[in-house]
Amino acid sequence: AYNFSAGPATLPETVLQQAQAEMLDWHGAGASIVELSHRGPEFLQVAQEAEADLRTLMAIPDDYAVLFLQGGATAQQALIPLNFAVPGQKADYVLTGHWGKTAIKQARPYVDVNIAASSENGGFRGIPARADWRLSDDAAYVHVTANETIHGVEFRDTHDVGDVPLVADFSSSIVSEPLDVSKYAVIYAGAQKNLGPVGVSVVIIRRDLLERAGQPRADIFTYASHVAKESMLNTPPTWNWYLAGLVFKWMLAQGGVEEFARRNARKSALLYQVIDNSGGFYRNEVEPAVRSRMNVPFFLKDEALNKPFLDEAKTAGLISLKGHRALGGMRASIYNAMPEEGVQALASFMRDFQQRHG
Ligand code: PLP
Repeated sequence: AYNFSAGPATLPETVLQQAQAEMLDWHGAGASIVELSHRGPEFLQVAQEAEADLRTLMAIPDDYAVLFLQGGATAQQALIPLNFAVPGQKADYVLTGHWGKTAIKQARPYVDVNIAASSENGGFRGIPARADWRLSDDAAYVHVTANETIHGVEFRDTHDVGDVPLVADFSSSIVSEPLDVSKYAVIYAGAQKNLGPVGVSVVIIRRDLLERAGQPRADIFTYASHVAKESMLNTPPTWNWYLAGLVFKWMLAQGGVEEFARRNARKSALLYQVIDNSGGFYRNEVEPAVRSRMNVPFFLKDEALNKPFLDEAKTAGLISLKGHRALGGMRASIYNAMPEEGVQALASFMRDFQQRHG
């Protein structure tokens, strides 16, 4: 089946096959990689290669640290103010959807949140123009959500925020196209969309930020401590780190982020075309300029057709198309590992379904 789940999401088939083949005996070690110590030579090699491959894929400059941590993207949303803001300091948040709200909720106990701009009044269908952002004079950082996984709204311009560190949640769009990492102070992402299975988060931090005092906190919540111990302050999520490493190798072999950018542009354009040419049978409400290339939410004009749509799609081998409960309707998540044939199959199914039910 083609799996359009928003995350945990589909993984490249060859990666799963390789993991299956290596699972019982890691290169003659007599045990699986997930049974060997994270401090042993076998896993250290896996870990170092994964970091090196991600650095190559994303062209991450040397003055950035790369972490592989537990806790998901949500934990990073709390750790960012804890590490980078002193008590009582302000931080600016640009709110463009559900996950921006989560980021604010996680930050509020630790920082004075200023919602510098919000598209909530318009139902999260766009991104406020930079000229309308009301940034604070003394913010610790500015936070944006690069791709709103539920609302299907994607920030593709890096809006200049001057010398203030720009922090971005890239959970659902990391490695989907080339990115100028140097425009950001912190990039974070849960793995379970474009990087691998759920259970590891990637955090990319410009090293000068690690010197910030932040707030009283334990070592385990301190990015500088994780950097000093190369993400092995405690036992890291070895299985997830290993599988993410396989995904990075797969991406490099396929042509890197430039190639995925081309595929992602074609895949998303095809679905939006089917929706926009359906005469209102299908509807996507996001402003065209900021429509997500990763998550395509859409509604059927006749909601009574939602169930038949999902049932017939499933029979056709197209699964996990139900929209998020916060929004309803449908959502097709089409991350890097979704092949173009999967999106073509969905597009044909949607046209065919409309013919039969329209
Ligand atoms: N941010 C975005 C953009 C997401 O899509 C998600 C989850 O789907 C999260 C944050 C939360 O991630 P996690 O469940 O890894 O904490």
